[in-house]
Amino acid sequence: MSESYRRVKGTRDLLPPETAVWAAVEATARSVFGRYAYREIRTPIIEHTELFVRSVGESTDIVGKEMYTFADRKGRSLTLRPESTASVARAFVENGMTSWPQPVKLFYIGPQFRYERPQKGRYRQFHQIGAELLGDASPLADVELLLMLNRFLQELGFEDLVVLVNTVGDEASRQAYRASLVGFLTPRRDALSEDSQRRLESNPLRILDSKSPGDREQLEGAPELHDSLTPEAREHFDQVRAGLDAQGMAYRVENRLVRGLDYYTHTVFEIVSEGLGAQDALVGGGRYDGLVAALGGGAVPGIGFAIGEDRLLDVLPESFQRRFVPASPTTVVAVGEVSPMAALALAEELRSQGVECIAELTTRSLKSSMKRADRHGVERVLLLGEEEMESGRVTLRDLRSGRQGVVLRDRLAAVLTSDDFYEIVNPGPSGPEGEEER
Ligand code: AMP
Repeated sequence: MSESYRRVKGTRDLLPPETAVWAAVEATARSVFGRYAYREIRTPIIEHTELFVRSVGESTDIVGKEMYTFADRKGRSLTLRPESTASVARAFVENGMTSWPQPVKLFYIGPQFRYERPQKGRYRQFHQIGAELLGDASPLADVELLLMLNRFLQELGFEDLVVLVNTVGDEASRQAYRASLVGFLTPRRDALSEDSQRRLESNPLRILDSKSPGDREQLEGAPELHDSLTPEAREHFDQVRAGLDAQGMAYRVENRLVRGLDYYTHTVFEIVSEGLGAQDALVGGGRYDGLVAALGGGAVPGIGFAIGEDRLLDVLPESFQRRFVPASPTTVVAVGEVSPMAALALAEELRSQGVECIAELTTRSLKSSMKRADRHGVERVLLLGEEEMESGRVTLRDLRSGRQGVVLRDRLAAVLTSDDFYEIVNPGPSGPEGEEER
């Protein structure tokens, strides 16, 4: 196959039956978030490049080297969204949501694009399930958002995830801290990685995020952000922790957690899974009290998270996957002289009553029809012969047990969807063998 007909590097085709699991995960998100009165927002996949430069931050990896940016036919610079918080904040301002009853609670589900080096758990098109709470600055809002996230992960059956929480303080805390960190690292500058040397000027806090062992060594004994917190920032974080403790939510304070984006203030968090290896972050999030103002929307605080759906699926507990085995459809086969048209008509009749079925549309031998049904994972076959057509009955065969019974056409949908289907088609040892009418 020519290279141009292959999928783009770093993208994936999601195929059935796995897509059913994706849909089930998304349905769970809708259900849990709905219980907290979060409503769905769908923003465009393309935005003006400037939006991300302004909100995610010029010195971040995302803006610096990972965006899919292109000029449209009129020469405007557009970008495939690398994340959705900026888009949601933009939509909040642009649609006048500041005048909606506050706070505004939104969630989204959709693809994101980053030009990163693909590897397991890292794609160029990946998917996020996220939530944003706008217009509530209270520490308890942070607590409730984390509880919602935790409930979602619990309902998926996760038991072994680690919730890391930290504060990056307010702007004043960060300015003070930036100065003391730069003061500490400047004499060690030459021992830092190239990336971190650059960050020392542009975004020194990001050095704390560095995975380079050399950088980690240089960071030993570095001042802690916690020592630069303003009393207000300290109070906010204390209250978040007290709230999480009171709700019995497990978490760990991770002093070095700063997160990659510029817009964060106060609470930041990450959820990691030990099962994921190098790309172990499953969720990232935090408070961003200055973002809406930066986009011209006034002083509206915000907090949110983004769950990496691809990674979530990689470590999804078996217990959840088992609950969503796709149902096995029923196949309708016309036998003998009966036309496949009759099979199609019966299938349509059943579908109108909510039954999932496949119609055998090609005339073929009963044996090859059965083989085909078996290959499709079908467990029940309806046989429609001349006799059945005349008598208004249908023969129902259960491929697993090999048993069959005759069912009145009018009763078919009820029998196929009934819980005691197998009792009907497979009468116990005392019941009649073989043909049985219902
Ligand atoms: P971020 O928007 O960088 O905070 O990322 C939030 C979550 O999205 C991460 O914890 C990952 O689970 C997921 N994620 C970020 N980038 C990628 C990627 N390139 N491929 C797959 N998942 C990603």
